[in-house]
Amino acid sequence: MKVDTDEGLRRLIEENGRFVKGLTKRRDLSVRRMALVEAQFSFAALLACADSRVASEYVFDADLGDLFITRIAGNYLSQDDLATLEYAVHELGTPLLMVLGHTSCGAVKATVQVVEQGVQLPGHLGIIADATMPAVQAAKMRTGDVLTTAI
Ligand SMILES: [Zn+2]
Repeated sequence: MKVDTDEGLRRLIEENGRFVKGLTKRRDLSVRRMALVEAQFSFAALLACADSRVASEYVFDADLGDLFITRIAGNYLSQDDLATLEYAVHELGTPLLMVLGHTSCGAVKATVQVVEQGVQLPGHLGIIADATMPAVQAAKMRTGDVLTTAI
């Protein structure tokens, strides 16, 4: 079912409220899956962190087809994620975009350690640090906890 931006945001807030209260709905996914064979009508597209503790479908008590999600550690916008979100908007007509940060994000925490302690990250983790560095540097210019503000 198509919804507009305001209705999409209202649903996300309401559904997250159910999750927070432990009142998530029970669903028969086989029925919903069959209804979505021909098309999807996601009411929100999310740029979310890959963190296993923050699975968007659970956090928003969402049904199959409700959310179009791209996940990357640190939830920064890569070219691939941008293309994914553009697909949701242009091809699926998704009316709402959300960037979903979360408390205790390890990817952002690693970048804070690079900035504040000169930590050298192994392998390709520097890609994440480079991408999230602007948020950490901006957070350092503000009052409050740098990690929380950067997230
Ligand atoms: Zn994270």
